[in-house]
Amino acid sequence: MATLPVTVIPLPAPVLLPVAGSDAVFPVRRVYCVGRNYADHAIEMGHDPSREPPFFFQKNPQNLVTDGLFPYPPLSSNVHFEVELVMALKAGGNDIAVDDALNCVWGYGVGIDFTRRDLQDGLKKAGRSWEAAKAFEASAPVSPLVPAEKIGHPQQGAIWLDVNGKRKQSGDLAQMIWKLPEIVVELSKLFTLSAGDIIMTGTPAGVGPILRCDRILCAVEGVAELEVEVI
Ligand code: MN
Repeated sequence: MATLPVTVIPLPAPVLLPVAGSDAVFPVRRVYCVGRNYADHAIEMGHDPSREPPFFFQKNPQNLVTDGLFPYPPLSSNVHFEVELVMALKAGGNDIAVDDALNCVWGYGVGIDFTRRDLQDGLKKAGRSWEAAKAFEASAPVSPLVPAEKIGHPQQGAIWLDVNGKRKQSGDLAQMIWKLPEIVVELSKLFTLSAGDIIMTGTPAGVGPILRCDRILCAVEGVAELEVEVI
């Protein structure tokens, strides 16, 4: 058995997501996110909802949180929620065929792509990259993952988000412009996908700001629910 080399600093902790109904955990390698994947959200953000090639950005694995707490981040006064279906991969590769794409998926969950919208607006105007708006600490709360073996591969079903008991986002997975297999296909043209990769698949309309002490409840029907408190 290979022994680990001596590390010159302590080995960073692996990022491990809980699995619903199990003591086993899902180890995370990368986190990809899809931009503008529901027509009504593209329109509310001032974009053309036609089927242009999808675009992607990344968060850091360490941005995933599972403790139900979202610390309001610094340097923003307009942090928005975006509820999204989360895919978790068990296999990958490059140039994956559409018929093989779902064979790469281990399971699903629900997550929130928190966004410092004021920073994002400034970065968009300046033609700069979005990391500061998207990949900040705790920016991606996620539910425990559920294996596809149990729930299948969702193609439709309500996706919604409430703030303090009021419905803010409401859509259906069937409204996705790029379907789950197509997202895997397109991402695998750009990047080498691998077991452990997480994909956040875009948000329906209704995104909006949160404040400290807000309580968020969101879900994808038939997949998972997630409760988050803004602190
Ligand atoms: Mn998003």
